[in-house]
Amino acid sequence: MELTGFSDEQLTVRDAVSNICSRFPNTYWQEHDQKEQDPTDFHAALAKDGWLGIALPEHLGGGGLGISEATMMMQTITQSGAGMAGAQAIHANVYATQPLAKFGSEEQVNETIPKIINGTWRTCFGVTEPNTGLETLKLKTLAKKKDEHTYTVSGQKIWITCAQVASKMILLARTTPLEEVKKSSQGLSLFCIDLDRGHPGLDVQKIKKMGGRAVDANEVFFDNYDIPASTRIGAENDGFKIILHGMNAERCLLAGEALGLGYAALEKAVQYANDRVVFGRPIGKNQGIAHPLADAWMKLEAAKLATYHAARLYDASAADESIPMHSVGVAANSAKYLAAEAAFTACERAVLTHGGMGYAMEYDVERYLREILVPRIAPVSREMIMNYVGEKALGLPRSY
Ligand SMILES: Cc1cc2nc3c(=O)[nH]c(=O)nc-3n(C[C@H](O)[C@H](O)[C@H](O)COP(=O)(O)OP(=O)(O)OC[C@H]3O[C@@H](n4cnc5c(N)ncnc54)[C@H](O)[C@@H]3O)c2cc1C
Repeated sequence: MELTGFSDEQLTVRDAVSNICSRFPNTYWQEHDQKEQDPTDFHAALAKDGWLGIALPEHLGGGGLGISEATMMMQTITQSGAGMAGAQAIHANVYATQPLAKFGSEEQVNETIPKIINGTWRTCFGVTEPNTGLETLKLKTLAKKKDEHTYTVSGQKIWITCAQVASKMILLARTTPLEEVKKSSQGLSLFCIDLDRGHPGLDVQKIKKMGGRAVDANEVFFDNYDIPASTRIGAENDGFKIILHGMNAERCLLAGEALGLGYAALEKAVQYANDRVVFGRPIGKNQGIAHPLADAWMKLEAAKLATYHAARLYDASAADESIPMHSVGVAANSAKYLAAEAAFTACERAVLTHGGMGYAMEYDVERYLREILVPRIAPVSREMIMNYVGEKALGLPRSY
């Protein structure tokens, strides 16, 4: 990757995180993927040096940097060969804590955030539901007020990453039934709850999946699961506005993660294209091999500009209220789309460049190709980004 234009902070983050990641070689990630084993020691290593708090306030033990630096951290993680598995073991602790730090009560942030930063607690993000999918505003999980101090949660979440290892969940649930609100964006509330897997009323079931197998993905069932009212983040029924703050950060981080994996795949492909000799010359001498790799590099470089522009805008919007939320949303969604597509192109070309060896675990690129599907699908699909950009950037009629 061309490093010109990055700030000193971003380059310092890149060097420091890269040093930690170098202790976790490709064989570590191959094994953890095959054995479906959580990379607990990788999470602990980043927590030990304070990296989980990179974009959290200094008075809570964080680094006080922004999403621009956090995006660089996540890119460095995937680029090291840790791939999406490495990123997914870390990223919710970085983005899902953003709304908590900004809108949580003093007591709530003082109690929770330092423990997430030092790695005592891990957090997961509970939004997606099986029966509503991308139509987030229709989600059905209900947090019903039982008394002044308690809500009772019932409903189902799906695809919740790290719910087997997390102690906390940032949960989006409906507190006012859809029929009783004027706009569907109202009536949702955000909570930071304990994920007490042994407790009656909570069941977490692992989903078998294609890639990133080192991190678990789960169905989570709530059946009259009581949570303290003090776990609510911000005002009741304002949860959607609050969570958007985390979602735009998430898109920036995911864009960075996709880029890192794309560059990692490209590096492997270039190395193989230089080393592998067929017909008496390195295969990279064939333009049929070289040009698609050059094309993939240019696509990644263009997506890199979109990604760090979005992260900069996100950070600037924290101090400058004249930057509209939808401008940050358009930039963050566009960046996630462009980075995921560019990285997919790079990963696919990397497998094809390796010929048969592209299919062998030993060369890593098959793992990268399996994992790069994730940022194309999550946290929001390519199609929904097109819908959103069509509406918000182009002024086309809303299509969803
Ligand atoms: C590995 C992995 C990890 C994940 N981790 C988490 C997590 O930690 N927390 C969490 O909350 N979620 C998580 N997710 C869920 C993820 O965010 C969703 O899968 C994603 O948002 C897509 O939702 P869905 O699967 O319900 O798709 P659906 O809504 O069922 O959509 C299916 C397809 O239809 C298309 N479609 C739907 N409506 C339209 C429309 N109006 N116009 C055009 N196309 C449309 C979609 O683009 C998609 O291609 C994860 C998913 C994966 C795969």
